[in-house]
Amino acid sequence: MTDERLKDASRLAIHTMTNKPWSLAQCVAGYAAAGVRAISVWRNVFESVSLADAARMLGDAGLAVPALVRGGFFPAGDAGERDKAIDDNKLCIDQARAIGAEMIVLVVGAVPGMMLAEARRQVEDGIAAVLPHAEASGVKLAIEPLHPMYAADRSCINRMADARVICERLGHPLVGIALDVYHVWWDPDLEAEIDLAGRQGTLLGFHVCDWRVETRDLLTDRGMMGEGCIDIRTIRRWVERTGFTGFHEVEIFSEHYWRQDQAVYVEQISQAYLEYC
Ligand code: ZN
Repeated sequence: MTDERLKDASRLAIHTMTNKPWSLAQCVAGYAAAGVRAISVWRNVFESVSLADAARMLGDAGLAVPALVRGGFFPAGDAGERDKAIDDNKLCIDQARAIGAEMIVLVVGAVPGMMLAEARRQVEDGIAAVLPHAEASGVKLAIEPLHPMYAADRSCINRMADARVICERLGHPLVGIALDVYHVWWDPDLEAEIDLAGRQGTLLGFHVCDWRVETRDLLTDRGMMGEGCIDIRTIRRWVERTGFTGFHEVEIFSEHYWRQDQAVYVEQISQAYLEYC
């Protein structure tokens, strides 16, 4: 990788949740002002802006939209709840299509007390059930493995390999994986699984932030790139070695950064991206 390439921010995207205090309009304006050309949208923004207005805003700004976040949460104790989840994922796909998002990210879900293998089976069934809808819309479905600290209630898929198994079983070109360094940096098979995902054509998304060694909260204390212990640049090299040309999506949930001036924070993100990603 050349030095010029490392100084290139053209693949930088930011998740709206990173700037949680901002509305979608503020994110769009703030990212554009900082020269950020891509935005991944979290669905909570639709609480305060209509889908049509959001689509217009994003289109007018000329921002690329790698992902709408998030669908998933498929497993449930009863069939009625599972059907509701399928309906919600179809809605998510419709919303993604409306705003021109390439993929929806699936935080697949888990049910406390349910065997993880059973939950994974229900995830596979859920994705299979929404696939025709995704096909009709041309929206990709990216399974995001989550760190095992979330295995009880957020994700029964915790390693790249767990996501790969579902991709292989469904064998569909729209189903792939969103790799978030926060969740998988510790995986001893990470490099091999990235290579394999590259060969299988399933690497759809690449999310970056950092793992603070002194983590204060399991949900809302992610670090800025360079602030923790993840060798993001090496993981990026593994990802790009596969031919991946997608965006590098900054996704930081942090009570600390949500309290800062968000415009200054976006500038810090751009700098940290150039320095550590
Ligand atoms: Zn992520």
